[in-house]
Amino acid sequence: MTSQLIDGFGRVHRDLRISVTDRCNFRCTYCMPQEGMQWQRREDLLSFEEIERVARILVERFGVNTIRLTGGEPTVRAKLSMLVVKLAALDVDLAMTTNGVMLPLLADELRAAGLTRINISLDSLRPDRFEQLTRRNELPRVLEGIDAALSAGFSPVKLNVVVMKGVNDDEIVDFARFGRERGVVVRFIEFMPLDAEEIWSNDRVMTQSDILDCLWGEFDLVRVERTSAPATRWRHADGLGEIGIVSSVSESFCDSCDRVRITADGQFRNCLFATTETDVRALLRNGASDNDVAEALQRSVSSKWAGHSINQVHFIRPNRSMSEIGG
Ligand code: SAM
Ligand code: SF4
Repeated sequence: MTSQLIDGFGRVHRDLRISVTDRCNFRCTYCMPQEGMQWQRREDLLSFEEIERVARILVERFGVNTIRLTGGEPTVRAKLSMLVVKLAALDVDLAMTTNGVMLPLLADELRAAGLTRINISLDSLRPDRFEQLTRRNELPRVLEGIDAALSAGFSPVKLNVVVMKGVNDDEIVDFARFGRERGVVVRFIEFMPLDAEEIWSNDRVMTQSDILDCLWGEFDLVRVERTSAPATRWRHADGLGEIGIVSSVSESFCDSCDRVRITADGQFRNCLFATTETDVRALLRNGASDNDVAEALQRSVSSKWAGHSINQVHFIRPNRSMSEIGG
């Protein structure tokens, strides 16, 4: 019988994010350093069989019903579609977050393997700025990747746009228009203190209210009721499209958080901003039973804090960057 992955505040966790690699073919300024990342050794990454086992325990014992693949860049992990087949067999809502650059090659294969939803990260529609932000000259291929995802039948396709003050905040309206034209849901994300080079500061954050201020004058937006999903959602009153805002910094949604994460090297995290982890890889490789693993996961979730404390003096940055945690 299924029990629940529940914490001390009564929050039930049903959404699992799996980072399949810490490597990436981009070097976004707000996420990774240009050079000097220490990559995990191949043998330290969870194998597909190990990932499947942890996912199965979480699905069968605790009713986890949503799995999102992330990274690093998930599409740089070889034979990713084989993992997708294994996870799709667990009968969960299976999604992926990607920088989109490999989708012209992989979108059809991943869709056929059982992936259903996709988020593509894109922070500028201007080639020069895109190159500054990602340190790669790949905007055309990412745009192609969006088209490939749509024509492969992913639904919905969402665009993740990290908005940074003085960097790309002048493109908010352009992105909202782009979303309406292409039939993709644009989700604006507040810049979080999880960048590898520690360039984050509060005054670089475009808050939800700053973002809405940019949109009100241009669009007639109607609020959509909130679910457990982190984004506040707004639909265009004429029915043509929707936008979301992920306000992790200015208005945290910790009260309704239902996520847990596993890193590429098999560390279970009960919060994006957690400063401690549970070493699931060691359990898997030292003969632990499914019961042992399940108990360790439940213990970790039981000890989850009420919420992160960004903006407070006692906030401690996790010692992993977003690219190692997976977003
Ligand atoms: N490589 C994939 C991608 O870029 O979509 C997946 C991994 S990436 C770490 C997951 C998400 O985290 C992306 O949407 C990315 O834009 C977002 N992200 C990375 N660093 C961030 C930061 N400092 N603040 C907010 N979001 C961030
Ligand atoms: Fe790579 Fe994604 Fe981080 Fe950009 S945001 S460096 S694409 S992991």
